[in-house]
Amino acid sequence: MEKKNIDWANLGFKYIETDKRYVSYCKDGTWDDGAMVDDANVSINESAGVLQYSQTCFEGLKAYTTVDGRVVTFRPDLNAQRMYETAERLLMPPFPIERFIDALDQLVQANLAYVPPYGTGATLYIRPFLFGSGPVIGVAPAPEYTFRMFSTPVGPYFKGGVRPLKLQISSYDRAAPRGTGHIKAGLNYAMSLYPGYDAKQKGFDENMYLDASTRTFVEETGGANFIFVTKDNKVVTPKSNTILPSITRRSLMYVAKEYLHLETEEREVPVSELSEFVEGGLCGTAAVLSPIGSITTENGVITMPSGMEKMGPITQKLYDTLTGIQMGRIEAPKGWIHTIA
Ligand SMILES: *Cc1c(COP(=O)(O)O)cnc(C)c1O
Repeated sequence: MEKKNIDWANLGFKYIETDKRYVSYCKDGTWDDGAMVDDANVSINESAGVLQYSQTCFEGLKAYTTVDGRVVTFRPDLNAQRMYETAERLLMPPFPIERFIDALDQLVQANLAYVPPYGTGATLYIRPFLFGSGPVIGVAPAPEYTFRMFSTPVGPYFKGGVRPLKLQISSYDRAAPRGTGHIKAGLNYAMSLYPGYDAKQKGFDENMYLDASTRTFVEETGGANFIFVTKDNKVVTPKSNTILPSITRRSLMYVAKEYLHLETEEREVPVSELSEFVEGGLCGTAAVLSPIGSITTENGVITMPSGMEKMGPITQKLYDTLTGIQMGRIEAPKGWIHTIA
């Protein structure tokens, strides 16, 4: 496979148009057969549900080259399942799980020249999305829907090495109790832009959001879940029904237990406990796991004992093991690696 002439190691995280994308349309509750197309632009009615009432959701996953030269994706069945559940909550016709996987295979096959070589740290980021494309004017679910999946090559997340993140506890909330925090809806991101801007203005990398009803428990950031390590090496992750169930976080918790033989707990994490943890990290597809350096709270700054220079030892082991599994250097649990080419 002749690769595109791209400086893989110096790619950032921004949109680059690739050759082909997958499209399927839904009318009267029935999805058509779907096809690969060339046009990166979408043409929709001015009154489309997505434009008027934000009826849209998305997923994010990566295709990459393993140590033995295969092109794979990581647990795409879980992205398909999560998108299915998100669609149901937004009254959109879910895109069938096996068809999601088929679309993914077609998309990656058609853009193989954009899958970065092993060892560059770069990946082909894949963005499936589903939105109301038919016109509405009264508030109602759209009469027609579009499912699309495109890909764009992205660079290594930790260019120039790992840098522990500075967080602030946000004075804004991310997700309402009994709202949409547990689904991957575009609207969750629209309302997080301002708090994100606020954090950057104040010199922080990310917001730490608390539960909206009591503001006493830790939830997640705008786009990543948390894990923490206790003094006695337990790996803890916040439990809440307003957190987006990160596939990376679920995988890391499994790795902690089954590969590293650490105790794991998914439970409520009170803000008051933050100063007792020895390590912390943000987990999501983009970075896999980025260490927390400090957390600024109303009552002062908590600096993680792992410091502002590097990952803590358990965070590092979790990171190395999961990325080792993804890249084919460590044997994966059954069903985790989906080989495309
Ligand atoms: C996508 C997302 C994550 C990370 O999920 P992964 O499946 O690990 O990529 C975490 N939090 C929010 C709010 C998200 O939208």
